[in-house]
Amino acid sequence: MKSKNLYIETFGCQMNVNDSERIVSMLADAGYSPDPVLKKADMILLNTCSVRGGAEERVYNRLENLRVLKKANRRLVIGVGGCVAQHEGELLLEKFPWVDLVFGTHNLHLLPDMVKAAEQGQRRSETSFIDNDQRLELFPAVQESSRVSRFVTIMQGCDNFCSYCIVPFVRGREVSRRSDEIREEVRLLAESGVKEIVLLGQNVNSYGLNTPDQPSFAGLIRQLAEIEGIRRIRFTTSHPKDMSDELIACFSDIPKVCGQIQLPAQSGSNAVLKRMNRGYTRESYLDRIRALKSARPGIVITGDMIVGFPGETEEDFEQTMALIEEVRYADVYSFVYSPRPGTRAAEFPEEITREQKQERLERLLKVVRRITLEINSSFTGTIQSILVEGLGKRPGQVSGRADSGKTVNFIGSPDLIGSFVDVRIVAAYQNSLAGEII
Ligand code: SF4
Repeated sequence: MKSKNLYIETFGCQMNVNDSERIVSMLADAGYSPDPVLKKADMILLNTCSVRGGAEERVYNRLENLRVLKKANRRLVIGVGGCVAQHEGELLLEKFPWVDLVFGTHNLHLLPDMVKAAEQGQRRSETSFIDNDQRLELFPAVQESSRVSRFVTIMQGCDNFCSYCIVPFVRGREVSRRSDEIREEVRLLAESGVKEIVLLGQNVNSYGLNTPDQPSFAGLIRQLAEIEGIRRIRFTTSHPKDMSDELIACFSDIPKVCGQIQLPAQSGSNAVLKRMNRGYTRESYLDRIRALKSARPGIVITGDMIVGFPGETEEDFEQTMALIEEVRYADVYSFVYSPRPGTRAAEFPEEITREQKQERLERLLKVVRRITLEINSSFTGTIQSILVEGLGKRPGQVSGRADSGKTVNFIGSPDLIGSFVDVRIVAAYQNSLAGEII
């Protein structure tokens, strides 16, 4: 059978990246191979994100642009998946009559049938939530042989209902994968040469909490650390309120667990945290940070902050700034608050002007950039074990990551890709480090 070209575009988070890999894998049986050239596509899939308004708009603009391609080729199949699809459902078929299929975050397994129907001219939308975890198991992600670090989805959905967040509505409630299936996936990855795994979920720390026959997240990490060939384990995203002592102990007891964690605070003010429904206070957050720093001295901590949440006063914002200084984040993913329709916070009155939010964001970014550079500079002169992942940006360079997650570029042969190399750090920049092989 002649292979058909699949153009797939992924928006948003690593969960979507991982889902796209699964989609490519499952559509191989239907005769589709991925091809990055849009104009050659027999099928175009947009795997979308609706966590931020901007991302949603980009999807709509993209869909507008696809209209001409459909006009030129009536046989072209156009589909939309992911969070925007989950949120909008049938409406997308109405708004964009050139779209053939809409599949929600729990409906990946229906895709082969939906594609077959679309090839015969039938348009369909599937967005119901499924209350089991089979969908996470049916189609392992396609594994490109050259990659040495892989995402492994261990759970999806979220039960937290932070007041600003759309995720529980578009990704559903928390569902954990079975640990034996995760172990098997990781074992196969290790056999294929993968050295590092990144465990993925909206809230990995609560892995297994809803499923009494499964281990806790810390228990799962301990099991995965036993697998031969896997040398590094990372995970994202963690929720501070579920950061247990048992999990923190993994940083001191298991050398394979990398000295890096993303622990989003979102605000340094208790009043704002309460309105956000985050379930922790500034004090309990800092307690977890202290415990992490004592379990793994030098641990690199990154965070997320929302600036200009409804009701955020100048004093609240100052507390966020003070928290950033106290934690000393290696980086902070920070965003100006914008309401997401359907969330509780969207009903909160907004008293902060766009200019005020922007001004606060710029002050925050300035501090974060300074601390990032200070932390990066502190690596200068140290020797780091780098897992080489690919070519660097400059000719003759390769690029990889240190245990801390920092990107390190250095002169080296492409043969090093996939191996660990000891490198002395000779220069620090805002986003990366430079080194030389010792
Ligand atoms: S923990 Fe809060 S911010 Fe994170 S996905 Fe769940 S509801 Fe959204």
